[in-house]
Amino acid sequence: MTPVSNAPRQLLRRLHGIMAGAGSAEQRLTETVRLVASNMIAEVCSVYFLRGGEILELFATEGLKSSAVHNTRLRVGEGLVGHIAATAMPLNLSNAQKHPKFVYRAETGEEIYHSLMGVPILRSGKVVGVLVIQNKTQRHYMQEEKESLQTVAMVMAELVSSGDLFNPLEQQEATLERAATSRFEGMVLAEGMAEGVAVFHEPKIEVVKHLTDDIPQEKTRLGTALQSLQDQIDDMMSAEDMRHQGEHQEILDVYMLFAKDKGWKTKIEAIIDTGLTAEAAVEKVQLNNRARMQKMSDPYMRERLSDLDDLANRLNRHLMGRVGTAASENLPDKVILVADDMGPADLLDYDREKLCGVILQDGSPTAHVSIVARALGIPMVGQMENALLAVVEGERVIVNGVAGIVYFSPPTEIMQSYRESIESRDAMLAEYDALRDLPAKTLDGVEVELLVNAGLSIDMEGLQRTGADGVGLFRTEFQFMISSTLPRVDPQAEFYRDILDAADGKPVTFRTLDIGGDKPVSFLKRDDEANPALGWRAIRIAFDRPALLRYQVRALLKASEGRELNIMFPMITDVSEFKMAREILNKEIDRQKRRKSPTPIKIRVGTMLEVPALIWQLDNLLPLLDFISIGSNDLLQFFFACDRENPKLAGRYDPISPPALMMLKSIVDKCETHKVPITLCGEIGSKPVTALALLAIGFRRLSIAPAAVGPVKMMIRSLDLAGLEAYMAELLSRSDHSLRGLLTAFAKDHGVKI
Ligand code: PEP
Ligand code: MG
Repeated sequence: MTPVSNAPRQLLRRLHGIMAGAGSAEQRLTETVRLVASNMIAEVCSVYFLRGGEILELFATEGLKSSAVHNTRLRVGEGLVGHIAATAMPLNLSNAQKHPKFVYRAETGEEIYHSLMGVPILRSGKVVGVLVIQNKTQRHYMQEEKESLQTVAMVMAELVSSGDLFNPLEQQEATLERAATSRFEGMVLAEGMAEGVAVFHEPKIEVVKHLTDDIPQEKTRLGTALQSLQDQIDDMMSAEDMRHQGEHQEILDVYMLFAKDKGWKTKIEAIIDTGLTAEAAVEKVQLNNRARMQKMSDPYMRERLSDLDDLANRLNRHLMGRVGTAASENLPDKVILVADDMGPADLLDYDREKLCGVILQDGSPTAHVSIVARALGIPMVGQMENALLAVVEGERVIVNGVAGIVYFSPPTEIMQSYRESIESRDAMLAEYDALRDLPAKTLDGVEVELLVNAGLSIDMEGLQRTGADGVGLFRTEFQFMISSTLPRVDPQAEFYRDILDAADGKPVTFRTLDIGGDKPVSFLKRDDEANPALGWRAIRIAFDRPALLRYQVRALLKASEGRELNIMFPMITDVSEFKMAREILNKEIDRQKRRKSPTPIKIRVGTMLEVPALIWQLDNLLPLLDFISIGSNDLLQFFFACDRENPKLAGRYDPISPPALMMLKSIVDKCETHKVPITLCGEIGSKPVTALALLAIGFRRLSIAPAAVGPVKMMIRSLDLAGLEAYMAELLSRSDHSLRGLLTAFAKDHGVKI
């Protein structure tokens, strides 16, 4: 630890006197620069503040000509002062005039000064000014002197917050916007486009009081806050839904290590001893840590910097009694939420009127929060690596959740063009809404049934909004994934009853639990599997833990009393597995009858077709079924031996290709022979051009994302199917890697809206 000499302590004590004293903000500034100059044995001390977001104006000086005050103005990036503002980094030069950024301003009379040290004045992480000292000799300023200057700069930021230096309007603008736009690429987790203002899910704290004259009290406050921070991390570590997630645990372990680090506490206390409040001391220690760690070449250590930043911010939130998330704060009208990661419940806490988009440092498409964002129609981009270090709270952000791009502080032209595409997207959505009550019927009169995929009760709004024919796939596992304990029969039944009520008579096909693989549930311990998609999942778990399926089936039977129940099983691999699943259902039906409980008026039983092996058993399987539903997400990953979760492989193999379409067509043909209704409920049906290919090989029922109903219906209503079927027969015999280009060209030539 750097020894703390008496000089900074004296400086702070006297600074305290000035700040607490009478006089205008400008007078206090002048006294402060005088104090700094004498305390640090500098011939010059000057302070510049930003005006209008881009001009640095000299507000007070000791040593330069007093006529220069309010007359010397520099653009951000201009001269050494402008350079400090642009980089937000301190500068320590024994011969300033040799620096390439040096510019000479005659009105200041500074040509006689050689050494210069300057630090940015930061407020909530944004530059609001620059504080500089200068000496005639080629002096090398010490680390301790730099730290003192930074402390004074922190206190000066308070003057900007007080509003005494500028009028309030100008004060809003008196922060340096980023010199250049930042553009980051990530992964689309929920589609859509949005613009708004960056809000940190866990708010960054602005320290408003820097100086104290009650040092023991500040130390007590620090002790209490550290304890409640440790408790909070303890709670997070033991939370049910955290227990099984290795990566979270590791991060939390690191947090705990830092939070309990005696060195950290000692450093903060040493700064409090100089007369700073606990919050200001936390900020100061973090400023020093940043400077040290940014120089490190070890990427692991640099990554730890954001953990430390987060921890320091958390500690300050405890100190200021603001422990909740931004959901409980006063939010701007258009919020783009920024977070490392968050849970689904966190997202649901926000005002949906205001929440326009989300950016996650981590995140994955199958994470619960992504599922909820898609259900709410909130664009979300994740896997943004260092984006969180770059974004400044309150800056403008564009989320392009179609291409997976995020802009921070976009220039006007980009902003404009995005506004236009958001508007045209809205116009397009309005056009789709207009199709709501029209049939999905081709130009040559072929009717297609369009159903929606759902998994949460909020998804049921999608059914009403789109006017779809029903729910073709209800993923029951989502309810289990959000819950930390195994849902019991009655609450399960109540949930399914609500879903059926929301469907208002339209059919809902429930799929029994498809947990495991990429869908972990906290109440079931699982081993680390090398290939979870091929592992202990879905119906395989149900056979080993039959009570899970029995209770779920019981709940579904109860919920469907007096109504129709459509039920199907996931990941069935052979006929015997279907028979086993059916047997469990039959036993539950018998139990219900034995107890003379009312049963559903009709039960239709089907299976998902997701495992290729089942295709060669269709002649034996289909006579046992009421319907079949193709889970193309899994089926195609197994068919192409291509992990659906691996972004590096996304797009490598095309479902619109001869092998995939021939395989799918063979299933459709078998169903036709056996007169068994077939639906496709994987993601591929949601893209108009793929849906076009599916219609051409005989599909007449698709279950798709609610947002896809409009675009797919529009495609169907503009299509002459007979012409396409003839063309497709020809295409299937080709050896192309993909038929996408040819089908797209066909659509264009024939006026099909894809
Ligand atoms: C599928 O595999 O296509 C499917 C619909 O199931 P899920 O995406 O839930 O695995
Ligand atoms: Mg599946």
